[in-house]
Amino acid sequence: MKVSRTRSTVRAVALVLCVGVGRSVAAQGVERSSEVAWRPQLPLQGSLVVFGLHVSSEETVVAVQGTLAGEPLHFERVGAWFNAVAGVPLDARDSVMARIVVERVAGGRDTVTAALPVGIRTARREQLAADPDLVQPPESLAPRIRAERALVRRIKRRAHDTPRLWREPFARPRPGPVSSGFGGARVFNGVARSRHLGVDFAARVGEPVRAANRGVVTFVGALYFSGHTLFLDHGGGLVTGYLHLSRALVARGDTVSAGQVIARVGATGRVTGPNLHWLASYGNVLVDPMDLLTLDPAAPVATAADRAPGSPR
Ligand SMILES: [Zn+2]
Repeated sequence: MKVSRTRSTVRAVALVLCVGVGRSVAAQGVERSSEVAWRPQLPLQGSLVVFGLHVSSEETVVAVQGTLAGEPLHFERVGAWFNAVAGVPLDARDSVMARIVVERVAGGRDTVTAALPVGIRTARREQLAADPDLVQPPESLAPRIRAERALVRRIKRRAHDTPRLWREPFARPRPGPVSSGFGGARVFNGVARSRHLGVDFAARVGEPVRAANRGVVTFVGALYFSGHTLFLDHGGGLVTGYLHLSRALVARGDTVSAGQVIARVGATGRVTGPNLHWLASYGNVLVDPMDLLTLDPAAPVATAADRAPGSPR
């Protein structure tokens, strides 16, 4: 775990080196300090993390901006901390970089960088049988599939421009257990094709699908692999998707409330039977949607006990 900090101001201020929770170190006699922490302490590949930057009470911070794994962060003040939700990519190796810029009233700007360690996600390998055209689409469909991928990327990227629309906790879109978890290797008709980038809920065609949280419907339509699909933009970079539907009950542009019935389960697109595939992304980083169920950006990222002894408050 590495954290470094550079100053672009001319004022001489002691550097504070901050490492993740539990292993913080701080310089003595500093004029100001910032430290960082994140929750969980060892985020897995393809997971959500809440990243926090602590500011001491004398500091007058104008703005905190930054990126993690290349996606912009949206900080909100929580007491003495600025917290932001972020996504760790499924293909991350041993760490992901956060780069934070802190602007202060008096002018001056600090850059804090941190390397967050990443845990390896272990997931099952699943053997599936599907229509050969859906596993290996004919070449003639390549432009359509490319265009759909670009469209979905734009939808996810735009969620960074939407203010956070939700305040209640996220809830699952279907009751009942997950029939296929996130990140498993998918072997279609004997050939390894992809990893499972969402979770499946087994269900019958026509059963209700509920909005995981408040958001705006940014897409309703048919996609080649996903079948009838609906995307919700929850703002602050978060998007949820509902795939393989039989029908949608809302239209693009609608604002939906948490728990609202937005669609019906179906068996459209690349499926082996009726199910709801639920996906979640932070910008274009796909994460395990089940992480949303415990997401609370306002909860502390570190307790006093986690913080370095003697670090300035
Ligand atoms: Zn699925």
